[in-house]
Amino acid sequence: MTQAFDVVIVGAGMVGAALAAGLGRSGFRVGLVDQGGAPSFDAAQPPDIRVSALSAGSERYLTELGAWQEILAMRATPYTRLAVWDETDHPLSSLLPHKIAEVVFDAHNLSASHLGHIVENQVTQLALWNCASAQSTVTQFTGHAVTSLTNNEDKATVTLNDGTELTGELVVGADGANSGIRSMAGIGVTRDQYQQQAMVISVRYQGPVQDITWQGFYPSGPRAFLPLYSAGNNESWASLVWYDSPEQLARLKSLDNSVLMAEIQNAFPSDLPLLTHIDAKASFPIARQHARHYVNNRVVLVGDAAHTINPLAGQGVNLGFQDARCLQSVLREARRAGSDLANPGRLAEYERHRRPANRRMMLAMDLFYHLFSNRTPPLHLLRNLGLGAAKAMPFARNRVAKYAMGIDDELPPVIRQLAERLPGLKQL
Ligand SMILES: Cc1cc2nc3c(=O)[nH]c(=O)nc-3n(C[C@H](O)[C@H](O)[C@H](O)COP(=O)(O)OP(=O)(O)OC[C@H]3O[C@@H](n4cnc5c(N)ncnc54)[C@H](O)[C@@H]3O)c2cc1C
Repeated sequence: MTQAFDVVIVGAGMVGAALAAGLGRSGFRVGLVDQGGAPSFDAAQPPDIRVSALSAGSERYLTELGAWQEILAMRATPYTRLAVWDETDHPLSSLLPHKIAEVVFDAHNLSASHLGHIVENQVTQLALWNCASAQSTVTQFTGHAVTSLTNNEDKATVTLNDGTELTGELVVGADGANSGIRSMAGIGVTRDQYQQQAMVISVRYQGPVQDITWQGFYPSGPRAFLPLYSAGNNESWASLVWYDSPEQLARLKSLDNSVLMAEIQNAFPSDLPLLTHIDAKASFPIARQHARHYVNNRVVLVGDAAHTINPLAGQGVNLGFQDARCLQSVLREARRAGSDLANPGRLAEYERHRRPANRRMMLAMDLFYHLFSNRTPPLHLLRNLGLGAAKAMPFARNRVAKYAMGIDDELPPVIRQLAERLPGLKQL
């Protein structure tokens, strides 16, 4: 059986579901396919192990789509402060105050009520699935994997594993970092595997919900604290992220929770509140990956299918939402002008907007990665000078915060120039 749509979106993760909701609201006929089942939420269940820091820019977009109120009604934790510091030992460590160059970004200095929210991925995805399915022009195909793609002159067609064919003027690959649509469309990637992986640990700690998220940088990788919601009985949930070598994380993952708890208390900075339970842990490989093109004929890529970045500043899905928002407006404009949705000039406009913006964020993350994952004294000095300068210059600091919040599109020039000089980034 063949069904026809304006746009077929493969992948209903956070980004694909957002795009479907947005296009559905504009009256496009959308087929939304995902190999997984519908996400679920139960207020009595512990948090999803995957959480994301959503920027103020993403909050605005999710509000436009009608998803934000639903997210707040489930669970979301605002944070008003974000702290970053260097934890590397150096010859003068014992003589200098601890965290000499700690930088704290504070919403109050930006006249904002908060810097962002920490939200469980399944909460965001469920709210977006609900928004998409509330649109009469969106048809969802859940539990179906796409197994083949034809990308012709006049239409593109995907075939599902039950033999159903879905055709569209455009097929969108929103199927994540290992995108099958990307490879079936013959789009290659540049890829760089980092030496570090990320282990996420769901914990409970003593005390009320904190309003700060922080990250201490060690030569083996950052260690971060992301506050979640109240667990009752004067306890709160949080997510810890521990970046380290794959070998070290494999060792940590194999430990009993009581032994792991002792390792965390030993390895994390003293800012860590008193932990009472470890509830879940999982590790994720991390890589910088960028599709060589975002578009091939009637196929276009969004989100992790187009780019993955180091998650150390939590920007991946925020960039994906910006892709979705941009593609939505390009397609609305194409429709208004009566042109084919796969018009090469229009899709080139999407890539022209999104590629440099995604690349800029990749460069910034790589700058942090290279600068901090390093024990050599000159780099130690440089990063502390950098943090010290950020501390001393509220204007520069606030610009970095606004960039990370999705309020400003441009990185401060000094960071952009430093990032552009990193080796191996020319090909991005
Ligand atoms: C440790 C860690 C921490 C992170 N923290 C943050 C953060 O704080 N803030 C942030 O912005 N980002 C963060 N990220 C990044 C963020 O998680 C990703 O950028 C985001 O999940 C990508 O969403 P997506 O919808 O593009 O892809 P995905 O979430 O990968 O969704 C892809 C979807 O496609 C479906 N699919 C795949 N293949 C097929 C097929 N053949 N047929 C049908 N369906 C298919 C899958 O089932 C899935 O639902 C983090 C990442 C990691 C690893």
